[in-house]
Parts: sequence; structure tokens; C-alpha cells
Amino acid sequence: MTGSGSDVVVQKYGGTSVATPEKICAIADRIGKAQENQRRIVVVLSAMGKTTDHLVALAHSVAKKPGGREMDLLLATGEQVSVSVLGLALQDRGIPAISLTATQCGIRTDDAYNIARIESIDTKRIVQELDRDRVVIVTGFQGLTRDQEVTTLGRGGSDITGAALAAALGASACDICTDVDGVLSADPNKVPHAKRWPEITYEEAIEMASSGAKVLHPRAAEVCMAYNVPIHVRSSFHDGEGTWIRGESDMVMEQAEVIGVSSEKNIAKITLTDVPDRPGLAAQVFQALAEENISVRLIIQGAITEKLGRITFVVDDEYVDSVRGLLGHWKESGLAKEAFIDTHVSKISIVGSRLASTPGLAGRMFDVLAREGINIDCISSSEMKVACVISEEHIDRAVRSVHDEFFPANE
Ligand code: ADP
Ligand code: ASP
Ligand code: MG
Repeated sequence: MTGSGSDVVVQKYGGTSVATPEKICAIADRIGKAQENQRRIVVVLSAMGKTTDHLVALAHSVAKKPGGREMDLLLATGEQVSVSVLGLALQDRGIPAISLTATQCGIRTDDAYNIARIESIDTKRIVQELDRDRVVIVTGFQGLTRDQEVTTLGRGGSDITGAALAAALGASACDICTDVDGVLSADPNKVPHAKRWPEITYEEAIEMASSGAKVLHPRAAEVCMAYNVPIHVRSSFHDGEGTWIRGESDMVMEQAEVIGVSSEKNIAKITLTDVPDRPGLAAQVFQALAEENISVRLIIQGAITEKLGRITFVVDDEYVDSVRGLLGHWKESGLAKEAFIDTHVSKISIVGSRLASTPGLAGRMFDVLAREGINIDCISSSEMKVACVISEEHIDRAVRSVHDEFFPANE
């Protein structure tokens, strides 16, 4: 790691914050103001607005299963547009600035196209440019393999670039500037009176993010936790305080029991029935899934009779086609009598670091769902999370009702 002192601040701006020329100009003015305090600023940008979605759609319009090298080369172009446009806007304001692709500033990744991991960052070029008093603008979401191939980090991956750069530069903080005021107790687009947290822990942020609160990529929080870099999730549009994410030591002594209610819609539930109850069958199913690189979100196995069982698991929507390919094979080989895929399901989760140590919280969640007449399909729980799979049509109502239970409107 090449540290250049904690006078560096990294600011990451998301797609909605740079969606139009007007918004890019507003960000340029904001960066100009920040520079008056002589801070060394590294800016990481996402692609403008829905650019990446459009590039994905473009790929699907010419190929059945686009992926691999060409796909990443295509997706990486979105951020090259936004960084260079911001560079022009800053220079037009007389602010010295340089835009760099991840390739130009040494972001090295592994070669897992579409979900690449950052292995190292050679910060030499960035530090050189900062020393020349330039604002350095870097393309988020991408890197370069040892063999000079362009990779992307996974959707929402610009947060990871911001975090990794903050860690590599020894920055005082990683600002995640977005279209909401911070990390809230629920998605404010679904629950308008959701509460903003002034501060949460890295662990809480990781749990919230991985259960569907897409305000921050969980891998960004993991990187900052490993390097002890504070994250400030805040609005791109005003200077008010957002949510600080850091380690336990600075936290208030008694944290809230539940800090968030989140949901995920893009999932599917797969059920295998009449699975013979003998050792090795679950291993066979989940090894086959792993060989196809399918990550499984939740697993439930139960007995139907003494000799037969049922296996249910949940995967992200994007894996449904690959799973479908395996089901026929499992039925033919006698591993399951029937196999069903239900894509009309969603998951609601409550998250909090005191969940495991506070009895009754899960019960309160189930009770709310029961009062609303919402059937729970599957339940999973861990130290910091309780999640229920329910029918997709009820998910928004479920989130509002469960949120009202833990965060009554009059408090
Ligand atoms: P960006 O383009 O800045 O990366 P994202 O769309 O990836 O922004 O993330 C911001 C969005 O995250 C918000 O618009 C909001 O709808 C959503 N969100 C979901 N859960 C939460 C939460 N608990 N707190 C804040 N925002 C949330
Ligand atoms: N542009 C990429 C995406 O839409 C990366 C990001 O926005 O963080 O997923
Ligand atoms: Mg994002």
C-alpha cells in the first residue's frame, strides 16, 4: 500500500448523481468548493444514469448469453464517459483536474469477468497527479488483469473502487455520495419516513447491504473495515451529515435492536420434492450448483416422510436459467421426483447487531406478517439478521408494516 497521508479524501458519486450534464456541472461546482479547503481529492464515478443497464440490454440484443471478456470491455465504457465529461467540466471552471481509467491508475484485479476482485492498486500515478494539485477522477467499477484485460467488479461496483482507493491511499475517509441522505432504517423510496442513522458499524452496514439495501455495496464496507477507513454515506446534493460507518469503538454504548428493514425482489425459490433421505444427496445438489458458479442465498432441508425429504433453496434471478438446466438432470437421475421454480418471491429482512441477544424480535416480525395475512414461505436467521421469503406481491406492504413495528411513526 502506497500511503500519501491522511489528507486525501475519496469521494464516490453514483449514477443518479451524474445522470445529466446539469448534475455533472453541479458536482463540478461542489468539488471546486471542497478544493478551496486545499484537500487532496480523488473522485470515483459511476456511469451516467442508467448507462450500464442500457449497455447490458445492448449486449442481450445481439447475444443469448453475453458474458466474459467482451461484455466487461463493453460495460467498462460507461464510466469512461462520465469521468472525462467531469474532467472537462472541472477544467472549464479553472479547476486543475485529470480523468484516469482504472487501467491508467493501476487497479489490478483477478480474472473473474463480471465479478472481478481488486487485488492491488499501484497509487504512483494518482499520487503524482495529486502532488500537481489536480483533482484526480477515476472510473469506478473496473480494473485490469495481469494479462491487461479489462474487468468489471459486479453491479454497483463503483463503491468498491472508492473503498479500495481510500484504503490504498490511506485516505481520511471514503465519501459515498448518493441520491439519499445516508443509510436509513429502510429504503426511503418505499418508506418515506425511514430514519437516518448518524452512525453504524461496518458489520451492520455489511448485513444491511447484503440483505438488499443497495445504498452501499457490501464489498466496499468489507474493504474499509479491513483497512479501518471510515465511510461517510451522504447526499450528493447538499453538505449535511449523512451516516458514518466505522468500527465499534466510537459507537454509543447501547445500540438499537433493529437498525434496518430491507428487501430483495430479484430472487427465485427452487423446491426439490421426494428427495431420498440418504447421506450425500445435499452435497450432490450443492456441489453441482457450485460447479456452475451459482451462489445460493438460503437453504432449507426438511423431511416429508421417514425416507423422503424436501430441499428448498433461494438464488438470485440471474441464475434461474442455469438452475433450470440442472433440474432435468436431477429428476432423471432420481435425485428428486419433482422440481419447482418460483420466481414470484421476495425476501424481507430485519438487521441489527443485537438481534441474537434480544429475544422476541423475530417473533414480532412474524406477528406483523401474520396480522397482515402474509404467508411466510421460508425463514432464515443468523447472528445479525432474520429473513423471510414471501410472495412478491406483498413485499412493499410487508416492508412498511414491519418497519412501523420497529420504528413507530410518532417516535
Ligand atoms: P448510486 O447510484 O449513488 O450508487 P444506488 O441506487 O446504488 O445509488 O443506491 C442508492 C439507493 O439505495 C437509494 O436511492 C435508495 O432507494 C436505496 N436504498 C435501499 N435501502 C436503503 C437504505 N436502507 N438506506 C438508504 N438507501 C437505501
Ligand atoms: N455503473 C455500474 C452499475 O451500474 C457501477 C456502479 O454504478 O456502481 O452497476
Ligand atoms: Mg450504487
